[in-house]
Amino acid sequence: MRGLAARDKPGMVGTVLRTAGKWVLDFALPPRCAGCDTIVSDVHSFCADCWTAIHFLGHSGCSTCGLPLEATEQTTCGACLARAPRIARTRAAVAYDDVTRTLAIRLKYGRKVAIARTMAHYMAPLVSDEGERLLVPVPLHRWRLWGRGFNQSALVARELSRRLDVPADPLALRRIRRTPPLKGMSPLQRRRTVAGAFRVHDKAAIAGKTVILVDDVLTTGSTAEACARTLKRAGAARIELVSWARVVKPSRLMR
Ligand SMILES: [Zn+2]
Ligand SMILES: [Zn+2]
Repeated sequence: MRGLAARDKPGMVGTVLRTAGKWVLDFALPPRCAGCDTIVSDVHSFCADCWTAIHFLGHSGCSTCGLPLEATEQTTCGACLARAPRIARTRAAVAYDDVTRTLAIRLKYGRKVAIARTMAHYMAPLVSDEGERLLVPVPLHRWRLWGRGFNQSALVARELSRRLDVPADPLALRRIRRTPPLKGMSPLQRRRTVAGAFRVHDKAAIAGKTVILVDDVLTTGSTAEACARTLKRAGAARIELVSWARVVKPSRLMR
């Protein structure tokens, strides 16, 4: 089933996620603000309060890592110029804060499909069109309370796949061992903890492709980095990452 566009086999990912039953309900109800559940006029829109509270990142930062630029930097940050990261392009729709965290949590417990669609709506314009693309959700989740056999990033990847008409393969990358939560670890400890935690299921499915990793919340990036390393070794031509929210130092966000 690898390599098939989502439209060719619409039930494929859904079977994995077991969320199909939620569908009908989601679309029978009036659109609600994805941040606070207030009824709004348009699908994928936020109410005025949530809209002003959200810090949209989009394409505004470094052309490579996506982090907000310092005043002295041009289009690529100093760190990326000094050493090109393994992930050629990282983008997040929004900065991680109270409102956007609520959305990430509701993707797990709330109206999953509607939330995933809203996220995909803001994430899709951030996916590049370089090479032969394949959307691959990050298979590991740091937060154990979200670990009930449901990968919310796979749901977002499916929605991105529909929207962009790019194939998604939720099983391309697998977690081969459990890792403890990374919170509180140093960057080096994080790297060591996640090293070797992933395996490519079928090298032929990713060989020569632009693999677009899909994540819900990006923190330090050590998990995505480990995924990228595994994918590159298995023959992927280029790795990108698109996430819903990203933890960014408040001092780097200009309002
Ligand atoms: Zn709201
Ligand atoms: Zn950078």
